[in-house]
Amino acid sequence: MTKITILGTGGGRFATVYQVRRTGGIYIEDGAKVHLDPGPGAALSLRELGMDPAKTDALLVSHCHPDHYGDAEVMVEGMTACSFSRRGVLAGGRGAVLGSGDFGPAISDYHKRILPRCAAMAPGDELTVKGMSIRATRTSHSDPDGVGFRFLTRAGVLSYVSDTELKREVLDDHQGARVLIMNVTRPLRSRVRFHMSTEDAAAMAKEIRPELAVLTHFGSKLINDGVQGQADFVEEESGVRTIAAEDFMRLTMGARITARRLRKAP
Ligand SMILES: [Zn+2]
Ligand SMILES: [Zn+2]
Repeated sequence: MTKITILGTGGGRFATVYQVRRTGGIYIEDGAKVHLDPGPGAALSLRELGMDPAKTDALLVSHCHPDHYGDAEVMVEGMTACSFSRRGVLAGGRGAVLGSGDFGPAISDYHKRILPRCAAMAPGDELTVKGMSIRATRTSHSDPDGVGFRFLTRAGVLSYVSDTELKREVLDDHQGARVLIMNVTRPLRSRVRFHMSTEDAAAMAKEIRPELAVLTHFGSKLINDGVQGQADFVEEESGVRTIAAEDFMRLTMGARITARRLRKAP
């Protein structure tokens, strides 16, 4: 059984700055424990759910925007048991890990030094963490070195598109996903460059045909317009079961795929 815990569903500047929704990322447990995009408040959200950052095996940062890396250094310290234990992997987009152009690095040299393994990933690169294979996927975003991820779990493929606009290559890289997590920053009739809108999510779900489409990374306009309406649109357009993620939601992938809220975020 693969467990996916949603530590935050907010994205973009306003929703992050004002914490309209949490921004702690996504935590995947499948033998390996992987913390994806630990934005601001990740440490607090883990604490509120009784989860221990010292058990994390890999920290993945898709790209160099603060809603994705805000708590990354704190989580490196967590993964290394407050730097007493030399364990864990840090991987992600080049800008976030090494710095590139105007971006990053999001993690200091000190924090990279206390880790045994650190990898800047380009699309197509693969990483194996405790038997789970993780492939970096293509994105088209304002951090040009950003990536998404495709996880080959024991329960099948889990895809995370990260921040991107919808391009042919993004569709190609996520074929075969059982669960497709899409960062939908913009609501219906409000598409902007470099981000997915609700219409894009519907088009992607229609082509990939996952068993479950999950919308997350909501911007403030989308939250004001109503998240459920976006999920309803995607489900009606695509014919794919679709949910709007909530803070502290737990998805499980086994023979069936389920979603429930662990508790209400304070
Ligand atoms: Zn973002
Ligand atoms: Zn971004």
